[in-house]
Amino acid sequence: MIEFSHLYKSYDKKNHALKDINLKIDSGEFVFLMGPSGAGKSTFFKMITAYDSPTSGKIKVGSFDLNSMKEKDLASYRRRLGIVFQDFKLLPDRTVYENVSLPLRVQKHHETFVRKRATEVLELVGLAEKFDQFPEFLSGGEQQRTAIARAIIHQPGVLIADEPTGNLDPEMSSKIIDVFEKVCAQGTTVVIATHDHELVKRKNKKTIELRNGSVFQMSL
Ligand code: ADP
Repeated sequence: MIEFSHLYKSYDKKNHALKDINLKIDSGEFVFLMGPSGAGKSTFFKMITAYDSPTSGKIKVGSFDLNSMKEKDLASYRRRLGIVFQDFKLLPDRTVYENVSLPLRVQKHHETFVRKRATEVLELVGLAEKFDQFPEFLSGGEQQRTAIARAIIHQPGVLIADEPTGNLDPEMSSKIIDVFEKVCAQGTTVVIATHDHELVKRKNKKTIELRNGSVFQMSL
């Protein structure tokens, strides 16, 4: 569960990047975060990832109270998160398997377990046959599915994605959202920032719309 209460974030004295945000996202929910450029979406994600802290107000994610979190707990908190970016951020000189398995190898898991999990997540995103391929030989949609596999290999409780379909055509975008829905169906909370009104309309999910740092409207 993600809970914002009376959360404000200001980068300077006059302007609020986020203004009195009060909302709850339940465990296992699928949410689109919308709003024009400058509305506060990246700041909203920075609050969830604890890469920045609120000016005032509270944020809790699962059992973690992010306001009072100690530096030493940050790493274990962030291991509960998965993050997907618009530009995929794959390592070009590593295969799909090497990219996807990186989070587990950093944690020094046994190779047998890593291969098993990588196979599972690549099957989930529909890329099992690309195991040994290099990113440059993949389409944009396949690269993004590789990035999603990497983001979920450690079974995060929360998956956030900042404009994950921003570089993809409508058909590919729809398929990427289908993959996020599969991840959500396995119990992960999914929050996706997007500008794509058409996509959001088609998918009929909970939507939080930010404008000038405030929640403008929330649907479902
Ligand atoms: P979005 O992701 O919806 O485009 P942001 O969260 O990036 O919106 O920005 C919200 C507001 O906060 C904007 O007015 C932006 O200029 C301001 N802002 C964001 N990050 C910073 C920063 N590091 N320093 C100063 N102002 C910032």
